[in-house]
Amino acid sequence: MKRKILIIVFIGLLSLTSVVEARLRVLASYNYIADLVEKIGGDNVKVTPLAKGYKDPHYVTPRPSFIAKMRKADLLIINGGQLEIGWIPPILKKANNPRINPGNKGFLDLFSFIDGIDVPKEISRAHGDVHPDGNPHFHLDPENILIISGVIRDKLIDLDLSHKGIFTKRHKEFVEKWRKKMSEWEKALEKFSGKNVVQYHKNFDYFLKSFNMKQLGTLEPVPGIPPSTKHILEMIEVINNKGAEFIIHDVYHMKKPSRFVNRETGVKLVVLPHDVGSVDEAIDIVSLFDEIVRRLLK
Ligand SMILES: [Zn+2]
Repeated sequence: MKRKILIIVFIGLLSLTSVVEARLRVLASYNYIADLVEKIGGDNVKVTPLAKGYKDPHYVTPRPSFIAKMRKADLLIINGGQLEIGWIPPILKKANNPRINPGNKGFLDLFSFIDGIDVPKEISRAHGDVHPDGNPHFHLDPENILIISGVIRDKLIDLDLSHKGIFTKRHKEFVEKWRKKMSEWEKALEKFSGKNVVQYHKNFDYFLKSFNMKQLGTLEPVPGIPPSTKHILEMIEVINNKGAEFIIHDVYHMKKPSRFVNRETGVKLVVLPHDVGSVDEAIDIVSLFDEIVRRLLK
């Protein structure tokens, strides 16, 4: 009897292990990507985000554990547009996992599916510009979330055809929910349509375009370059001449320059989350947008 129970337990454990192993192992450079993969893949994928949501996405310090994770991964999904240029390529090289190398089936660059803002005719990192391929912060346009959720669904199906039905179903449910939220956000932000906005870094270009807000300028003279006194004074003059609704600042840059401009112009300073996990309220992609809208309306 004891032996029989042991055999049953053993078989049970074996089947559990095979279920776990059958799940696609997905690595996502940022939290918002991991959340989309989870929403579409559900229990059939095991997704791990690499960067922390509250840090500057341009400058991630790779940990040794990233290499171990890359060695085991079936799929690596990156934001692209050179956002990960400083940290993904070196660890990808060290991990030496051909499955997830660029050009192979287990590698997905989301930016390549997007109609980018500020995409230059000729690529250059002149003056230290950290957006040499164009603005990489495309996920803050809700329409782009629809595009990349479809791209992620297709990739999951490509790697695990046996779960095509469930991936398709979950994606459809997500899109329905997302479209409802999009009309809620559009309605809530309608009153800012056509208004001028100033940003610290160009995190929200896609968001502003999507909700028809006008970008007056940025406090960084070039993406990635801290503001000079001369540039700040010029921006203050532009704001005083043309008027602005907000100064948008992210959660990770020093707020001193934005606070100064806020004091000098009286324009409202709003700190906005840029990724899932960048503030406590942004627990997934839906609540990230909810929280951005809530802070703008506050
Ligand atoms: Zn940037």
